[in-house]
Amino acid sequence: MSMPGMHDIFVIGGGINGCGIARDAVGRGYSVYLAEMDDLASGTSSCSTKLIHGGLRYLEHYEFRLVREALMEREVLWKNAPHIIWPMRFVLPYAKGLRPAWLIRLGLFLYDHIGGRKLLPATRTLDMRADAAGKPLKPMFRRAFEYSDGWVNDARLVVLNARDAVDKGAVIRTRAKVTGARRENGHWVVSVEDRRTGSVEEIEARLLVNAAGPWIDHVIADTLGKQNVHNVRLVQGSHIIVRKKFDDPRAYFFQNKDGRIIFAIPYEEEFTLIGTTDRDYLGDPHTARITQAEIDYLCNAASEYFAEPVKPEHIVWTYSGVRPLYDDGASKAQEATRDYVLKAEGDDGQAPIVNIFGGKITTYRRLAESMLEIIEKRIGKKGKAWTAVAPLPGGDFEATAFDAQVTKLRSAYPFLELRVARRLTRLYGTRATVLLGSATSEADLGRDFGAELYEAEVRYLVKHEWALTAEDILWRRTKRGLKLGKEQAAELEDFLRGIGSKAGSVAA
Ligand code: FAD
Repeated sequence: MSMPGMHDIFVIGGGINGCGIARDAVGRGYSVYLAEMDDLASGTSSCSTKLIHGGLRYLEHYEFRLVREALMEREVLWKNAPHIIWPMRFVLPYAKGLRPAWLIRLGLFLYDHIGGRKLLPATRTLDMRADAAGKPLKPMFRRAFEYSDGWVNDARLVVLNARDAVDKGAVIRTRAKVTGARRENGHWVVSVEDRRTGSVEEIEARLLVNAAGPWIDHVIADTLGKQNVHNVRLVQGSHIIVRKKFDDPRAYFFQNKDGRIIFAIPYEEEFTLIGTTDRDYLGDPHTARITQAEIDYLCNAASEYFAEPVKPEHIVWTYSGVRPLYDDGASKAQEATRDYVLKAEGDDGQAPIVNIFGGKITTYRRLAESMLEIIEKRIGKKGKAWTAVAPLPGGDFEATAFDAQVTKLRSAYPFLELRVARRLTRLYGTRATVLLGSATSEADLGRDFGAELYEAEVRYLVKHEWALTAEDILWRRTKRGLKLGKEQAAELEDFLRGIGSKAGSVAA
C-alpha cells in the first residue's frame, strides 16, 4: 500500500525517545525516516544524571506506575546493553532532622519488591564507622542504607538505538531540521532542511511522531502552525564534575535540607559527577549553561556530607540539560511529574501525529512500545513487540560477563593495555573488533589524538556513528573531552574536516 518514497513513520528528533521508537518500529516492519536537527543525543539525552533508576524520590509523589515500570526496566536494559549499562550500588546516609529512618526503609522496601528484581542485590544497612563508604564522609554520618540501581552511558544508548535502526533499514539523518509539515491527501509532507548545505527536501509519511523533547512545543507551534501551545514545563538540571572524591565503586545519594536530593557518582575512572538541580528555564535548550547559583548550590550540598569540601575551583567540567516535563500544573519544578504522556491527533481520515511529553531515559523502551500500540491503531499492525530481549549493537554478551569480555578482546588484540581494552569494551562492546580490525600493534591504530583516542576509533565513529565534529566525538560518542586540551581538540577538528565526512550520512 505504501507509495514509492512514502514512509510509514516520520520521527522528529534524535534523542533517546525518537531513536528508541525508530528502532522498535523498523524492527516490526514499518518504514521509518528520522530527522535530527543537530547531533544525535545533542539535546536532553546526553545531559542526564545517567541513572537507570526507579526514582526513589518519586515514591514521595506517589508515582507508583512510573516507579514500577522503571524498576522493571533496570534488568531488561542491563541485559540488552551490558557494555554501556551496569548495576550500581547507592549509599544513602541517614541524616538527623531530614527524612526519618522508617520512611527511607519503607521506600527501599517498596523499591526492592515492586520492580521484578532478580539479579540486582537487595537493600542493606551500613555501619559507616566500619564500612569503606563512610571514609570520605563527615564522621557524623554513622548509619546509611545501600540499595541497587543502574548506570547508563546516555549518549551512547541513543546512538546504539540509531545504529540498530539503520541496520534494520531505517533512514536517520542528522543536522537535518524539520522546518514544516503539512497534511496532503491523507498523509504528511515534511520539509527537512540540511543545516550544512541549506537545501530542503520534502519527505512523505503516513504518520508523524513528534519526539522533539524540550523543543516539542516549538515544533507544534512553528512547524505545525498551531497557536498558544503550552504542554511542557522546561526545567533545567545541571551537573558538575570534579576530580574523584572517593575510590569506592558505589555512588552516594545525599538528602538536602530543602527536601531535594543530589547524587555523587564515580565517573570516567578519575572523576566524581555531582548533580542535579531543578530550575525553571525559558531559553533555547541547546544553550542552557550552569549558573553560579547552581554551582554554589551543588558545592554546598555535597560539602554537607564530604569531609573535604567541594569547591568551585575543583570543577573540571559542567553540563546542563533541560527536562521537558509534562505540565501538570505542579507549583514546584521538582514536583512536576516525571511520567510520560503520548497524545495522538488526527481523526476523520486526517494524517495522524503523536506527540511525546515527558519521559525518562530509563523508560524509553516502554515508551516506544506504548507509541507502537498507538501507531498500530492508526496505520495498521505489523510485527510484534521485540525489544525486551534484543541486544543493542555490541551488547551481545552475558550481562554479568563484562570482565570476561575485556579478557577476550585482549586475547584477540594482545597489544592492548588493560585500560584501553576496558574503555573500548565499555563503549563498543563486541563491536570493538570492528574498530580494531586487523591491527596487530598500537601503531596500526593510527594517530593518537591524545589520551589514547586513536585514528581507528575516530574513523569508526565517523563511518558508523554519525560523528561529524570534534564535539560529537569528545563529548557524546566518548568522554575523551575530559582528557584532551583545547589544542588537541582543534587538531581533531582539522582532521575531521580533512577527511570530509559527508553531512549526516552513515555507512549501512
Ligand atoms: P531529547 O534528548 O532532547 O531529544 C529531542 C531531539 O529533538 C533533540 O536532539 C533536538 O535537537 C531534536 N529536535 C528538536 N526540534 C527538532 C526539529 N525541528 N527537527 C529535527 N530535530 C529536532 N532520565 C533517566 O532515566 N535517568 C536520569 O538519571 C535522568 N536524569 C536527568 C537529569 C537531568 C538534569 C535532565 C535534564 C534529565 C534527566 N533525565 C533522566 C530525563 C531524560 O534525560 C529525558 O527524559 C530524555 O533524555 C528525553 O529524551 P527525548 O528524546 O525526549 O529528548
